Amino acid sequence: MLVNYHTHTWRCNHAEPDERAYIEAAIAAGVKVLGFSDHTPYPFPPEQHSWFRMSVEEAPRYFRLIRRLRDEYADRIEIHVGVEAEYYPAYFPAMVELLRQNGCEYMLLGQHFLFNEEKPEYGSAAATDDPARLRQYVDQTIEGMATGLFTYLAHPDLIHFTGDEAAYRLHMRRLCRAARELDVPLELNLLGFHDNRHYPARRFWELAAEEGNRTVLGWDAHTAASFGWRSLEDRGRRLLADLGLTPEERVPLRSIMGK
Ligand SMILES: [Zn+2]
Ligand SMILES: [Zn+2]
Repeated sequence: MLVNYHTHTWRCNHAEPDERAYIEAAIAAGVKVLGFSDHTPYPFPPEQHSWFRMSVEEAPRYFRLIRRLRDEYADRIEIHVGVEAEYYPAYFPAMVELLRQNGCEYMLLGQHFLFNEEKPEYGSAAATDDPARLRQYVDQTIEGMATGLFTYLAHPDLIHFTGDEAAYRLHMRRLCRAARELDVPLELNLLGFHDNRHYPARRFWELAAEEGNRTVLGWDAHTAASFGWRSLEDRGRRLLADLGLTPEERVPLRSIMGK
């Protein structure tokens, strides 16, 4: 893989510590363009603690450090600094403003929770057979894509719906269709393969193929070793190729400054 925009750092509390290790491993694996996209800081009220993202206070250091490394490694690899962010209507404008002030280059949409992440049970990846949750996931993700600020949608098949298959197809087709209309590529997430998660879900990518979506591969690297997982990359390419889809090598970054 020549380009990977989906890379985390220790700041989210669940990834390997050393940024240089990621960069060196990416270079060794032949990556030419590396984007850091750690879990975004979110200006929640103080009583709402979110364990899997950097704090608002940490944000300036994150952006500064990655820019410093970008300059240091400029002759060996092209580095960008962004975030992976959910769309939470109550806090989204303040979050984007915070990112703009810090010179964030791009955002990936990863809708890990529903509503405004107020409750742990709103997690998108928990198994559910409730069509209302499925609908909420799709509605909220579409609203996020419609802001025009996201470079691509990470793990679109994150929702773990175990209910009626017809409902799954109905709502996920809506998601695919909106992504196509809004010109937002869908990421096939290789970490899901590595961790044997419920995604990438073939049933979802069948819909994406029918709807003719743009696609891209993402390592979702939480360890430097991720860049060496060639067999997972092959598996992702095979799954898409089986369905007649070809992932784009380099999706253009969408600036978060406009709109
Ligand atoms: Zn993560
Ligand atoms: Zn994610």
